[in-house]
Amino acid sequence: LTEKLQNIFKNLKSKGRLTEADVKEALKEIKRALLAADVNFKIVKDFVKKVEERAIGQDVMTGLNPGQMVIKIVNEELVDLMGAETTEIKFEPGSAITVIMMAGLQGAGKTTTTAKLAGKFKLKGKKPLLVACDVYRPAAIKQLQVNGEKQGVDVFSMGENHKPWDIAKASIEYAKKNGNNLVILDTAGRLHIDEDMMDELIKIKDEVSVHQTILVIDAMTGQDAVNVAKEFNDKIGIDGVIVTKLDGDTRGGAALSVKAVTGKPILYVGMGEKLSDLEQFYPDRMASRILGMGDVLSLIEKAEAQIDEDKAREMGEKMKKASFDYNDFLEATKQMKNLGGLGSIMNMLPGMGGGALGKMKGLSDDQTDEAEKNMARMEAMIYSMTPHERENPDVLNPSRKHRIARGAGVDISEVNRMNKQFNEMKKMMKSVTKGGKRGKFKLPF
Ligand code: GDP
Ligand code: MG
Repeated sequence: LTEKLQNIFKNLKSKGRLTEADVKEALKEIKRALLAADVNFKIVKDFVKKVEERAIGQDVMTGLNPGQMVIKIVNEELVDLMGAETTEIKFEPGSAITVIMMAGLQGAGKTTTTAKLAGKFKLKGKKPLLVACDVYRPAAIKQLQVNGEKQGVDVFSMGENHKPWDIAKASIEYAKKNGNNLVILDTAGRLHIDEDMMDELIKIKDEVSVHQTILVIDAMTGQDAVNVAKEFNDKIGIDGVIVTKLDGDTRGGAALSVKAVTGKPILYVGMGEKLSDLEQFYPDRMASRILGMGDVLSLIEKAEAQIDEDKAREMGEKMKKASFDYNDFLEATKQMKNLGGLGSIMNMLPGMGGGALGKMKGLSDDQTDEAEKNMARMEAMIYSMTPHERENPDVLNPSRKHRIARGAGVDISEVNRMNKQFNEMKKMMKSVTKGGKRGKFKLPF
């Protein structure tokens, strides 16, 4: 598939902006890739339309061809769609009991995941109680007991002759007496969505206060994942999703469908049958898995790094010519965030690196915090300058400095300090590029 894609990209002429034809052509393949990854067709349709709107007319990044540029946008949108960051399960504050209810179809992995979660949270200092609410299969109770024992956590069961909601209610009383602060209800699934199952879950929710309802979805569910997720979310309301069996060769399009249709975060992914096989969910990794274009994505990453490098080199050139002004100073601070320090810009100058600059990279967290605050104040001061002042720092006289200090909400001494540092830096640049000795110099951030 990737080969096919690359052929198409070769045929697309490289130009400054993405045209409608570029975008349509590339999206045809993306659409196919998403469908092959089992993303629901309706979701694919909406998604492609959204990307198309965003992509047409965008500048093509240097180092990428139009097709790759479209993939870059697609990847960003995918990550965005799945939630830009990882989400943790929320616990009740203090010593209050947190109740989690597991929901999902039969065989999705609820019982296994219940035990996996228990192990994870036990490590974090919780005292979990697993509750056997699946009363339809005697084997289900046994399975939970065996898994609970493996994890070294308590399991509560009342056999098969009670209603699931009564068991749930009794388990809370038990947890209170037994000192458990986390209760995980392992419920029964059905092969398909049915009313009985939903009613049962609703009744459990009526009887005990469930804080988190977690839907467990089998990654192999494919196109149907959308219907399953929608039903569960509409009927009982879910707070988060766990996608299991991602250790198989499915590309995991179900994850995307479920997130798109419920809007609820994916919390963890199941990566195997072993009880330790539960991993944090990372949207960016999932996006590249679903897209199945790892090599194109790493190419895009390289192009992005190249752009930062180009900017840094340009900055180095300016420093060399000592035409370095406050605009460059500002740009340098922004670059710092991307490049891991002004040090790297300086390292591109001959005769630099090591010494005080080398130390820059080894800042402690506190120092980094402080540096970031300084950086923000400095940005404010530079933004308070007129364009003329930024380009010609020599014109900064006391009255201008007063105005800048007022504008940035800082004391005039800060403006003076920054200006002094700026001048020292400039002087140092000159001496370095002339091959002179490196002066004593402290970076302002
Ligand atoms: P439940 O009916 O929803 O409770 O599902 P179970 O927890 O009983 O799991 C059904 C089957 O799926 C079992 O054989 C599990 O070992 C298996 N399973 C669960 N999670 C995973 C996973 O992440 N990867 C793999 N490969 N198998 C899993
Ligand atoms: Mg089960």
